[in-house]
Amino acid sequence: SEYAKFDSVNAWIETSLVKQDASLASCLEANATAQLEDIDVAPNEGKFHYLLAKMNKVKRVLEIGTLGGYSAIWFAKAVAPVGGKVITLEFEPEHAKVARSNIANAGFADVVEVRVGKALDTLKKMREDGEEGFDYVFIDADKSNNAGYLKYALEFAHVGTVIVVDNVVRQGKVLEDKDAHSEGQRKAFEFLKGEKRVECTALQTVGPKGWDGFAVAMVVE
Ligand code: SAM
Repeated sequence: SEYAKFDSVNAWIETSLVKQDASLASCLEANATAQLEDIDVAPNEGKFHYLLAKMNKVKRVLEIGTLGGYSAIWFAKAVAPVGGKVITLEFEPEHAKVARSNIANAGFADVVEVRVGKALDTLKKMREDGEEGFDYVFIDADKSNNAGYLKYALEFAHVGTVIVVDNVVRQGKVLEDKDAHSEGQRKAFEFLKGEKRVECTALQTVGPKGWDGFAVAMVVE
């Protein structure tokens, strides 16, 4: 397939530059054993988030969509050395269970907190409870709620907060399809377009999961 070349180049990028450690590799193995869908970020994207977090001296990360904790472990690696914290939100108790085990196995039980429930409910509760703000927000759950997640991301943000929305291209389906995910991503773009507190761009990517992309926003006021 046309993706075969993407796979080979990605494998080359990963073996030369990314080098997952044992805890990340065993996280993916445990996810497969638990039959979680293989929809974690790719290793090179995980490392990209890790670097972006370090570049911005991020301490507090909010992640929406935990799955087995793979991206959360990358974030933990970035913030643990500076005494930071990752709060990750997951709807499926079974995913959260696998994630907590992977996170503990990676040595980050004290760094990452997995909160179970519908993310919009958890975020509402966090606001009511006066949760501290975040320096980095990664949105990677049910795309149909992305505009809602972005609103909360801004509530918990300060000038300089980085917000990343994953899977905004979806093999180009985002422009054509009427499914809830594509519509959700288009609404997310509409929201970002109308929000003067952020500056944004989006990049298209190719890789083992085909043609996709992510949007990056920075809070500027
Ligand atoms: N960020 C993870 C990684 O890279 O390792 C992958 C997350 S996966 C793409 C999306 C996750 O969002 C799934 O585990 C799914 O159960 C969860 N999810 C779906 N709807 C949700 C909701 N309303 N609230 C919280 N989590 C939700």
